[in-house]
Amino acid sequence: MNLPSLKRTLSRMPFKWMLTLWSAVLIFVLFVAYNTVQYVYVEKWMMAQEKKQARQKMNEVLNGLLEREAGFAEDELLRNRSYLDKKNQSDQMIRIIDQHGDKVIAVSDGIPEEWIAPEVKPETEIVVTDHAGHSLLVIRSPITIHSFHGTVEIVRNIDQFQRLTEAILRVFLFSGLGAVVLSGLGGGLLARQLLKPLQLMARTMRDVERKGVQERIAVPDKEDEMTTLMKIFNEMMDQVERSFSQQSQFVEDASHELRTPIAIMDGHLSLLLSWGKHDPETLEESLNISYHELTRIKALVQDLLTLTRTEKDGLAADEVTVRADRTILNIVGQWEQLHPQYTFETKLTGFADREVVVAERHLEQIMMILLDNAVKYSEVGSPVRVTGSVRNEAAVFEIADSGVGIPEKDLPYVTDRFYRVDKARSRKQGGTGLGLAIAKRLIERYNGQMTIQSKESAGTTVTISFPCRAHADGREVKVQ
Ligand code: ADP
Repeated sequence: MNLPSLKRTLSRMPFKWMLTLWSAVLIFVLFVAYNTVQYVYVEKWMMAQEKKQARQKMNEVLNGLLEREAGFAEDELLRNRSYLDKKNQSDQMIRIIDQHGDKVIAVSDGIPEEWIAPEVKPETEIVVTDHAGHSLLVIRSPITIHSFHGTVEIVRNIDQFQRLTEAILRVFLFSGLGAVVLSGLGGGLLARQLLKPLQLMARTMRDVERKGVQERIAVPDKEDEMTTLMKIFNEMMDQVERSFSQQSQFVEDASHELRTPIAIMDGHLSLLLSWGKHDPETLEESLNISYHELTRIKALVQDLLTLTRTEKDGLAADEVTVRADRTILNIVGQWEQLHPQYTFETKLTGFADREVVVAERHLEQIMMILLDNAVKYSEVGSPVRVTGSVRNEAAVFEIADSGVGIPEKDLPYVTDRFYRVDKARSRKQGGTGLGLAIAKRLIERYNGQMTIQSKESAGTTVTISFPCRAHADGREVKVQ
């Protein structure tokens, strides 16, 4: 198998096998490297010990011979032989040769002389050699006593040492084989443990696909990367479930709201089709009502669109309104013209060198919703007060009316979609129940806040606030 096709096979391998393979290979390589280093080190150390002992023996023999001022004439050989015999040990040979390489004396225990040919050496030398399957350590040193120049040779059989190192090597090899099996098993076990949470997640995802978004992962009671991932997944599913139910609720509410005007139009148009068109009075009335309901549907669709758009968008871009007081005065002015029977009071201070973090068109839209409500739910002629000031880096606006107010039990819900305290009244006034929901979501997009205080039959005060800061270049900017 060449390298590219091996790569392809590896990349196609299931994750579990890949994890098993890599962890097994890693454990194996580490084990083999560790054993090899250990083997090489032990073998070197043992050989160094052998050589050290051989050198010591050589020094002993040389010193002994020098001290005795040994001579190597025929009559002295016997004495020296017995000395060398004493110094010798099993599996060792001591041989003295003259400068021509001819043997002078040799004592041996277990090593035949012919295994090693005599060699004259001008300097000490240690070699490891083989003969007939035996490992031999040979040390040679020159010796000079009076007129005798020769070489002392000590030959040691190191078969024991070789057997020991071979045994160690075998142990290492067998344990290496064991390591292959164990690291394969260990790798598999590791992969299984690591993949367990992932498999759990995959199973839950499949359940979500089959049974629905209410399925969750049972998160084990511990803190690690996997449980964090599982918690994130569960939170995400909570969010998905919430938005699913919100969406279906929204569609339900919207179709419910559309049903009434459509039913009214249906009734009147059927009436006209059957006989009503021949009666001018009925024709006029039915057309008027149908037109009115159509206008409601148009307003509702428009509000629904605005609402979905504000819900879809996240936090708004850093748009600002410079001189928010003028923007609000403009809107209130338009409202005064539309509703001359109401009195509008305004008091806006502190905005000359400030910019309010809200897009001007959105500030206008919010003010229109709140002013519309203040007028819709008040008696004709009652006052509407709009105030605004800057407090602690926030622009705070209050829209207060002296109208019908909101009952305490309804107060928490008036910003919900389609929530209306008095459905009939709201409908009559052309309300869709979406105004405050739109206003609230728009305000939240700018990190602003809206609070409503109200007392039945006394009036309502809506307070809205937005972050605000000194105007960037400190100049007054004219707003048309
Ligand atoms: P609507 O289109 O019905 O006015 P909103 O979302 O603007 O819808 O308001 C929700 C409900 O809150 C209204 O139906 C009304 O009952 C109540 N509400 C809102 N503003 C006021 C107010 N200024 N005074 C009294 N009731 C109010």
